[in-house]
Amino acid sequence: MRVGSMTEAGIRLNQLRGWGMLSLLFHHFVPASLYGGQTASSALSKIDRELRHCRHADAALTVLDTFKAEVCALLRSRFASPAAEALTLKILNICLARYHFKARSASLLSRPIGIVIDPSNMCQLACPGCVHSTRSETLKLFDWNKSALSEDRLSALLKLYGPYAIGVYFCNYGEPLLNLATPKFIRLAKTYLMGTTLSTTLSVRRFDADAYVESGLDFMVLSIDGATQPVYERFRRNGDLELVLGNVRKLVDAKRRLGKRTPVLSWNFLAFEHNAHEIPVAARMARKLGVNQFRVVDPFDVRWDDPQIRPVEVKAGVRRLDWFSTANLPENWNPFPEGVDAHTIARAYESPWNERPISDAPPSSGHTCHWLYQNIVMDATGRILPCCGAPRPDANLVFSTFDGGGDPFNSEKYRQARSYFSGAVSASDGSPYCTRCEWDHVTVNIGGPEIRRYFRAADPAFFDRRSLRLLSGW
Ligand code: SF4
Repeated sequence: MRVGSMTEAGIRLNQLRGWGMLSLLFHHFVPASLYGGQTASSALSKIDRELRHCRHADAALTVLDTFKAEVCALLRSRFASPAAEALTLKILNICLARYHFKARSASLLSRPIGIVIDPSNMCQLACPGCVHSTRSETLKLFDWNKSALSEDRLSALLKLYGPYAIGVYFCNYGEPLLNLATPKFIRLAKTYLMGTTLSTTLSVRRFDADAYVESGLDFMVLSIDGATQPVYERFRRNGDLELVLGNVRKLVDAKRRLGKRTPVLSWNFLAFEHNAHEIPVAARMARKLGVNQFRVVDPFDVRWDDPQIRPVEVKAGVRRLDWFSTANLPENWNPFPEGVDAHTIARAYESPWNERPISDAPPSSGHTCHWLYQNIVMDATGRILPCCGAPRPDANLVFSTFDGGGDPFNSEKYRQARSYFSGAVSASDGSPYCTRCEWDHVTVNIGGPEIRRYFRAADPAFFDRRSLRLLSGW
């Protein structure tokens, strides 16, 4: 239904939304336990306690199987099938992933909690520090092919991991809007009740704002690092600020016309020496345009590519331009109930966790990388990468290629990388890049904050603060 003027139905919808926001705020500040409401926390604490004592994966799986029916029964009192089964799988998968992380397991029975996908490997911009910068391309610094993701490949990956994962982040090094099928991909992710985020420069001429608003997208990151063209293009080379702002207007207008409060629009501003003075004016522009959040971000250092582009010391953080914008996420948690892939979810729910044998060792300790247990990354050609690092001829970061079969999260390279950290193998010539990596090993694309946001959107009363702490603490 297109909403041009305020109909009776529209007024009712807005009243419901108002109630949704109040409900979210109420549950944020008043724990359900205070008024005798049911929450997930007692079942989650029991699982957590039991898993802490497991010395082998077999024991951990027994714990999960024991609690599967109990968790699902609790959820069925609040969610219809197959949403209850999907949430059960996602919760138990997080518990199992954390068990494997703490045990420093090399082979995992858990699936990725989050999936990072490049719908397109191409980008029309040439920002310093990126695989697409002029210097990177001229010197062939990275091993990066131009390509667009096919629906078949994405569909196979989501069938495999979608029932267990809580979210997809559509963007790594390519511009996702260059693949015209991206709105379809987002809708596909929603068939597994996943949270969906996309990051874009919006500097594209062919842009169907309505398709993105209707796709079920939850969150859209708009990368705009300037308020005037000369400043903006110092970093966003080949970018056209007028085109970008025109596309922001199209998005805001489509949300209004279609009566949707999602995607939440977040203007992200990478703060450098050359653009920091434009932060206040950009924040005012964002508010005037109807963007929901303005975020100042500490950029990664790109001086190796262009010494003139230097990071600056500013206060990073989010300014909420519309306080209720994230309170609207619950209405988008399951936007297409009739489109949910009930068959795949039911099959996953009925399958035992230990379908394949796992080589297991007693839990070890010591440093490891969170990426190897929480997220998986696939580029548009199907290459599986362990994190957001870009493959280079001298950096072994392609862990396998996904053609629709197998379990890429347990490829030989993945097992080698995890074993290296657990001390079971040492580095050799063919070792994955992980053995000499000095990047951040803790912050993943879909981790603690996204887990909290996801379950809060599903049911803010049932997933109270204690439940969210139990689910998102690593
Ligand atoms: S160790 Fe480094 S290269 Fe390996 S997954 Fe972690 S961040 Fe990526």
